[in-house]
Amino acid sequence: MRKNIVAGNWKMNNDLSQTERLITDLKKQSKTSNAEVMIAPSFTNLWHAFEATRLDDIEVVAQNMHFAENGAYTGEVNASMLKSIGVKTVILGHSERRAYFNETDESLAKKVDAALAHDMRIIFCFGEELADRKAGNEETIVGSQIKNALFHLEASAFKNIVLAYEPVWAIGTGETASPEQAQDMHAFIRQTLQTKYGNDVADAMTILYGGSVKPANAKEIFSKPDVDGGLIGGAALKAEDFYAIVNAF
Ligand code: PEP
Repeated sequence: MRKNIVAGNWKMNNDLSQTERLITDLKKQSKTSNAEVMIAPSFTNLWHAFEATRLDDIEVVAQNMHFAENGAYTGEVNASMLKSIGVKTVILGHSERRAYFNETDESLAKKVDAALAHDMRIIFCFGEELADRKAGNEETIVGSQIKNALFHLEASAFKNIVLAYEPVWAIGTGETASPEQAQDMHAFIRQTLQTKYGNDVADAMTILYGGSVKPANAKEIFSKPDVDGGLIGGAALKAEDFYAIVNAF
């Protein structure tokens, strides 16, 4: 079934005491919507966050992982390590990882395979750059990102995948895609899935929007029929703002 999800990507923010404080604040908020709530702290704080939210309606997810089973990959973390501390979901393909850490559709396809082999759920991110949108190429870019990283999968794999459309020009810039731009792209994404995998996969797919979602614009964006939730950066660092977005459903 298609779910509503609001996931907070903390990026490289919050040390241990800041993590403790933000989680304490998050736990004081009340949830009035049916959205699933996720937070993605840094690797060093995942275990604490997992323990601190054990009894709460908040899932702790990772921001990244390596595709290898183990070995000589200094500084990396694999799926077994995440699973061993209770983390069952991983964000893959965030535009910052593509831009600053050279992640490509091909390396992401390997990460997708590794996460699925460990029965993890994936929030798979993609989106066009400003120049692509200005040139009218946004659907071509988004279509190829999805196809290159995901279309080798069987239809059954998609029950463990959530898609996150994040136009790069809207991430951390204060500039948001209009609700209509988000809806048009989400409809295109669903159509792309439908063409390859049929109605069941397309209808059941949860597609998040990410890019400067705030309490002030969340309701309008989430009101669009093909927008099933949000991946939230800056506004996820303040408990009140984050829950205002969660409760925008
Ligand atoms: C993100 O990093 O996924 C994101 C959407 O960031 P922001 O909400 O700050 O634009």
